[in-house]
Amino acid sequence: MPAILDDISAEILDLKKKIGATILAHYYQEGEIQALADITGDSLKLAREATKVDSPVIVFCGVLFMAETAKMLNPAKKVLLPDLQAGCSLVDACPADKLERYQERLRANGHKFQTVCYINSSAKVKALSDWVVTSGNAEDVVRNKVPQGYEILFVPDKHLGAYIKDVTGRDMILWDGSCMVHEIFSLGDLLKMKKQHPAAKTIAHPECPANILGHADFTGGTEAMIKHVGSFTAPTEFLVATEANMMWELQRRFPQHTYLGVPGVSCSCNKCPHMARNTLEKVRDCMKFGKPEVLWQPEFDKAKEVLARSLLNPPVAVTPVVEDHPHGD
Ligand code: SF4
Repeated sequence: MPAILDDISAEILDLKKKIGATILAHYYQEGEIQALADITGDSLKLAREATKVDSPVIVFCGVLFMAETAKMLNPAKKVLLPDLQAGCSLVDACPADKLERYQERLRANGHKFQTVCYINSSAKVKALSDWVVTSGNAEDVVRNKVPQGYEILFVPDKHLGAYIKDVTGRDMILWDGSCMVHEIFSLGDLLKMKKQHPAAKTIAHPECPANILGHADFTGGTEAMIKHVGSFTAPTEFLVATEANMMWELQRRFPQHTYLGVPGVSCSCNKCPHMARNTLEKVRDCMKFGKPEVLWQPEFDKAKEVLARSLLNPPVAVTPVVEDHPHGD
């Protein structure tokens, strides 16, 4: 690590002690941020771990909907997000007012349905839903928690929805949203890589389109992918069809294997530009200045109930804290 980054990392570790912070980082953050985190994980793991944090401050290195989730599950804690503009194309694809109108139309047309939303959605969308899922528990919720006899309106990721519909056979209506990172993986590039590395195993995230998943040896959410790779003892090549920073964690845990990012190591279009807004400097500054902070929003009250019963087992009681300002910066 260059000396300047070493200095910033040292400052971050000092500040962490000074303000009593726990750093949570998503696997899609740059390796230098993950290296400083107390906990790394996918959305499901981070949401669950956030409820076990003792410190008064959580620094959430990820995107806004994730930090909001941490706040909803920890109303009394101060949740800092290094860059409040860190959004998500899936959140943008499903505005709450549009979803509400669509739900009303479905009801008026006699549909009996429950709404299942991917965690990559706004708090208002979560509040309009019956269940919130991650790629790690979507199959279980759709299979076992949504009562039979109901259609499922799945928002906002059409690719994850199509995958879950395929594996569960449930009757699902899919919202037309997608992740800008997984959406652009090219089948041509993947097939070229498979030809160049015939022994390699392809692992893919279910946010990828069906044409990519059709050529994967394993499809699963981030934690499932880690578990799958961990089941190989002999050195193996993996073609990884998900956000490229994920390979940092795979390399750290299972260094005996070789990881090649799809569409290719020379291209950085498989990195999420929203996640990339968080830098070491911004992590340091949010701890130094106590902002940007994610503050309680009115829609969090309903959204947290849906979140808690969907993701926490057993559900954790969360008591709201009322604050009178919108998101701080
Ligand atoms: S990788 Fe895709 S789903 Fe994840 S935060 Fe970025 S845009 Fe959203």
